[in-house]
Amino acid sequence: MTVQVGILGATGAVGQRFIQLLDGHPTFEIAALTASESSAGHPYREAAKWRADSPIPDAIAGMEVGKTDPDHVSDDIDLLFSSLPSGVASEVEPAFLDAGYVVSSNSSNDRMADDVPLTIPEINPGHLDLIEVQRDNRGWDGALIKNPNCSTITMVPTLAALDEFGLERTDVTTLQAVSGAGYSGVTSMEIIDNAIPHIGGEEAKMETESRKLLGEFDGAELSLHDAEVNASCNRIPTVDGHLESVFADLADDPSPAEARQAMESFPGVDLPSAPEQLIHVFGDDQPDRPQPRLDRNRDDGMAISAGGVQATESGLKYNCLAHNTLRGAAGASILNGELLLEEGWL
Ligand code: NAP
Repeated sequence: MTVQVGILGATGAVGQRFIQLLDGHPTFEIAALTASESSAGHPYREAAKWRADSPIPDAIAGMEVGKTDPDHVSDDIDLLFSSLPSGVASEVEPAFLDAGYVVSSNSSNDRMADDVPLTIPEINPGHLDLIEVQRDNRGWDGALIKNPNCSTITMVPTLAALDEFGLERTDVTTLQAVSGAGYSGVTSMEIIDNAIPHIGGEEAKMETESRKLLGEFDGAELSLHDAEVNASCNRIPTVDGHLESVFADLADDPSPAEARQAMESFPGVDLPSAPEQLIHVFGDDQPDRPQPRLDRNRDDGMAISAGGVQATESGLKYNCLAHNTLRGAAGASILNGELLLEEGWL
């Protein structure tokens, strides 16, 4: 079976990761690429400043980049992946949804809307049923599903694993890579020899999206998890891979060994792009791991790494890491697309 997919914002940092990850995908075949007016009409190899490690796949290099407009995208496309800037996506995605497309999107607009599933397949696949509520509310034939912000995806799987001990509060400090800001996000003069203790809107995204992902959906309404989440987000001069230091206050006070075991054994999902083991945890013999350069590509960049698990007087502290444009962006949307297919929404 082949499912034809399109990529909105295909020339950007995340768009390129879609192309890299979909090359050789068992089901999804890229049939449309779109970007801004300045790229439209050009072959992909000219429109994109390609920076992935592997060359542009042959089938894509000569493909013409189209306009990001439903009137210019074929009706034969079954699923659209969106990696548009959120200001653009908030205008454009509804037009595609009105036209009946199913959209799996990275953009931050509508992530916290009551009727939009914000999903990580291993954590909250049941939230997909919000699509019924969404269709009733909005009259769309299509469906909109979002994946969380890259910094949220890095931490939430570890919190989901620890929630069996009763998550009450978490404080997180991030060290985020420059690719998280897209190509034009941070200039070299700003970031080389520097760290920037502010990423606009990022802290609020982590604080709200985490509670939605860990929340309960009863078939009609979604309630947020009642844990308190406090985030401090920093940009540092790594290229890819967000490293985060987490403190978790857990009602049952597990030992570090119990916490490690809960993370290591947290179940994965049987989808083509899912890692075999979602969270890998380094032991006390490797207290300086995970590190961005060494660990971001674990399991094709789709696994989460954790380490440095220690007990404090009031809870647990540990570090975690994920590849922000793979697991944190394009890979997350593709996994959501695979879940949509598996659950019969395509
Ligand atoms: P980016 O590198 O700036 O790429 C943006 C893409 O959108 C490009 O293809 C660009 O095309 C296109 N675009 C810009 N303005 C447009 C317009 N008016 N109409 C149509 N297309 C337009 O950004 P990115 O880092 O890939 O991020 C894309 C989205 O993913 C953002 O919403 C971001 O918040 C989200 N996200 C990013 C990350 C990450 O780690 N980077 C992680 C999670 C989520 P041109 O090349 O023609 O300008």
